[in-house]
Amino acid sequence: MHQASVHRVVIVGGGFGGLQAAQALRRANVDITLLDRRNFHLFQPLTYQVATGALSPGEIAYPLRAIFERARNIRVLMAEVTDFDLEARELHLRSVDGVPAPASISYDTLIVSGGSRYSFFGHDEWAEFAEEVKSLESALLARSRILSAFEAAEMEPDPQRREAWLTFAVVGGGPTGVEMAGQIAELARDTLRQDFRSIDPRTGRILLIEATDRVLTSFPPSLSGKAQRSLERLGVTPLLGRTVIGVDADGVTVDDGGGRPERIPTRTVIWAAGVTASPLAAKLAERSGAELDRAGRVTVEPDLTLVGHPEVFALGDMIRVRGSDGVVRVLPGVAPAAMQEGRYAAKAVRARLRGEGPPPFRYRDKGNLATIGRAAAVADIRGLRLSGFIAWVTWLLVHLFYLVGFQNRIVVFIRWSFSFATHGRGARLITEEDGIAPRHLAGGEPRP
Ligand SMILES: Cc1cc2nc3c(=O)[nH]c(=O)nc-3n(C[C@H](O)[C@H](O)[C@H](O)COP(=O)(O)OP(=O)(O)OC[C@H]3O[C@@H](n4cnc5c(N)ncnc54)[C@H](O)[C@@H]3O)c2cc1C
Repeated sequence: MHQASVHRVVIVGGGFGGLQAAQALRRANVDITLLDRRNFHLFQPLTYQVATGALSPGEIAYPLRAIFERARNIRVLMAEVTDFDLEARELHLRSVDGVPAPASISYDTLIVSGGSRYSFFGHDEWAEFAEEVKSLESALLARSRILSAFEAAEMEPDPQRREAWLTFAVVGGGPTGVEMAGQIAELARDTLRQDFRSIDPRTGRILLIEATDRVLTSFPPSLSGKAQRSLERLGVTPLLGRTVIGVDADGVTVDDGGGRPERIPTRTVIWAAGVTASPLAAKLAERSGAELDRAGRVTVEPDLTLVGHPEVFALGDMIRVRGSDGVVRVLPGVAPAAMQEGRYAAKAVRARLRGEGPPPFRYRDKGNLATIGRAAAVADIRGLRLSGFIAWVTWLLVHLFYLVGFQNRIVVFIRWSFSFATHGRGARLITEEDGIAPRHLAGGEPRP
């Protein structure tokens, strides 16, 4: 039962930050409402495996209600938050998918972890022609686009057009871009190599376009070099020092810095560059007067609360944190940062209920991991630099450990073991009708 006298905590976002906050408060004497516009927690680090047919959606997403089925003080609500009334301590809500939602909800403490999304460097029109793998829906769309490109190439008699179908441009050489490029290369060179009769998928070109002079810039240069060599061995061509200046239905245009635009004909573009914070960050900044940076992140105080509103915490990808020294810092946009912040917010709520003040938040860097492909990864764990098979095993174990849901861990482990042994990918399905947009069909004709 929800009692009006109990301290009401509303948590926005069942992603990495929000989930940890809710889990750390499940035994506290507080009444929690966990709000998300989706009914599941998504393990974003593995969405690229859904996009390339290695895993199925249900293996990397877990229903929020199931996670908290035994936590009697937690109520899960599927709704979209549209605005905040910080003075009245209320959230404004909108219904999702026709599911009725209350117009507003009140709180004593508010914790917001709305995440981020990809940005197209001010060119939102590119989004129509480039897929990304941030959400489950977009990963499924990317999967359909990638697989339908091979299908279209098989049917295409014109060699130039066939080549465009068999060219895959991944934009952004960070961990997601590297992982996507590596997986598409494995799909083309390994998984699909015997599946077609008119084309040889191994002739496909997988381009990784990166504006700086190396991939994985958040890693030490030596590991970037190793990652690049692993990618090249897989058949990926890194195009470094190239800035994307155009994306349309027939290709990508890049600038090599010398002012000479280079045109790359391709029908499949995967976007993995630049992120911008959830619009909820801008709303919080507007309502509280807190600063907002160019990436849309709201600045929070050393205890992760909004300036002038100690009852409002903001976490994860959507924030910058002011240190005790007054300097504002951007923490890495990774799951461990959001999780640590979620646990901190929960601890702060408990401390306040005891009448104590929490110490400032301190981020503990647990290191960096990125996988490139089969038995290839790089890891930088507090100065310990690993690459190859051992880094890959570390990557596997860490991801299995953090994957939510006992059943999911077992299924993913079995899937990975099976794929490793057979070189197969069980989820190579073109499922989404919308996934095959007219521009993806040979000759650009709409599908009947
Ligand atoms: C493709 C990809 C790969 C990644 N790989 C890694 C990796 O390997 N390792 C790593 O550490 N990090 C990785 N990250 C980063 C990591 O996923 C994020 O840093 C982390 O998810 C941030 O947590 P969060 O709580 O801020 O946001 P999220 O986990 O994104 O959660 C935000 C939640 O808020 C909900 N929400 C948003 N707006 C509203 C609204 N208005 N109303 C209601 N609900 C709303 C969303 O539905 C979502 O559930 C990856 C990210 C991506 C996109």
